Amino acid sequence: MDVDDVVDSVSARTWTPGSWRNYEALQMATYDDKALYETTMAKLSSLPPLVTAYEVDNLTSLLAQCARGDKFIIQGGDCAERFVDCNADYTTAQIKLVVQMGAVFETATGVPPVRVCRIAGQYGKPRSSPVEKHPTLGEIKSFKGENINGFEPTERAWDPRRLLEGYWHSAACQNFMRGLQMDPEFAPKMLSGLDAAAYKASPKYASYAKTVSEIQSAPPNVAGPMFTAHEAMQLDLEEALTREVPGKGFYNLSAHMVWIGDRTRQLTGGHVEYFRGIKNPIGCKVGPSMAADELQRLVKILNPDKVEGRLVLITRYGNDKVEAMLPAHIRAVQASGVPVVWQVDGVHGNTVTAANKLKTRKFDDVLGECTKALAIHRELGSVLAGMHLEMTGQPHVTECTGGSINVLEEMLGNHYETLCDPRFNYSQGLEAAFVMSHAFRG
Ligand code: PEP
Ligand code: MN
Repeated sequence: MDVDDVVDSVSARTWTPGSWRNYEALQMATYDDKALYETTMAKLSSLPPLVTAYEVDNLTSLLAQCARGDKFIIQGGDCAERFVDCNADYTTAQIKLVVQMGAVFETATGVPPVRVCRIAGQYGKPRSSPVEKHPTLGEIKSFKGENINGFEPTERAWDPRRLLEGYWHSAACQNFMRGLQMDPEFAPKMLSGLDAAAYKASPKYASYAKTVSEIQSAPPNVAGPMFTAHEAMQLDLEEALTREVPGKGFYNLSAHMVWIGDRTRQLTGGHVEYFRGIKNPIGCKVGPSMAADELQRLVKILNPDKVEGRLVLITRYGNDKVEAMLPAHIRAVQASGVPVVWQVDGVHGNTVTAANKLKTRKFDDVLGECTKALAIHRELGSVLAGMHLEMTGQPHVTECTGGSINVLEEMLGNHYETLCDPRFNYSQGLEAAFVMSHAFRG
């Protein structure tokens, strides 16, 4: 098929919230107990939405501002949320980290943040391998997120009741987030504890400390929306939470933004089919296996009406590949005439295995990719609209190496708590905002 054939043939399909079922959808769990599955899906379809179309449209227009360089997306959170972390303390710490990163960015650059959290629904994971070897149990299914199965090796069966558990946890988390934001003490609570002392080892320490003292003497306005986002991998769940909004169209009202993973972005596949028809701002991961002409087709399919703020391209090549890959992708999208929001995911192309077999990432690789992406966009007359990280607000976590606090490989085992990919801890996450805002300012 030539370019226009595939774009035309996908675009000519009749879209419904369930039309993805006619195409191959990778990575999804399927269920043997059909009766249980059907009653679960019926219940999910009847439950109230977690977000509103008004909020979703607001995010689209804010993302359009990011694409013009007037705002900057700070997006982050767990690789895989855990049900056990759906509690007040953990959620507050997640929000606090994102708010503080945004405050640092705004104070250092003058560009306000749009804050998007991987939260309240980031419960489904695509995996490179569907199975793994266990020393006593033999071959077991890979952990695919708490929406699908449990992390314990004995809990790896796919169970549809977990989809409902995921909804309750998402609802509780979203409700708590809304309460936090309505608290008149939101700003001082979120900015408390902000301190540059952890970055004394950085050559830029003086500048970071200056930003912190500016925030303390003249805090930026940190009120305003905190948006939720997750990878929409399990399409039957996403379909069940998709609602028709009169006069507007179909919205996935389980989150403000949803994205397509790098493993499920096939042009003619089920995920692209589902995403092309919903009104939310949508993301699509762009990894090193993406060909430039394929990307051109993808943006035409996913943003046929050329809506600004609609489509976020989340690039994640790796620090050693970004310079070779990003320029051709920027040029291909420029030539397509489709407006996109460019975001850099500095983490997914930079995962390595440490000597002790733990998956990890180096702070400098992650920030290397992020700052290179920024420079490349500027060189090509494009705009880097934001950054996307896996991170936790917990200060003790040791999953990624480096940063000014200098987590060493041999320390990784101390507090390695992620169920999936390694996350920056609080100090590393905040430092990412300092490094990025420095690079942004030039
Ligand atoms: C993720 O964001 O957790 C993820 C799986 O990313 P990617 O699809 O880019 O590998
Ligand atoms: Mn991940």
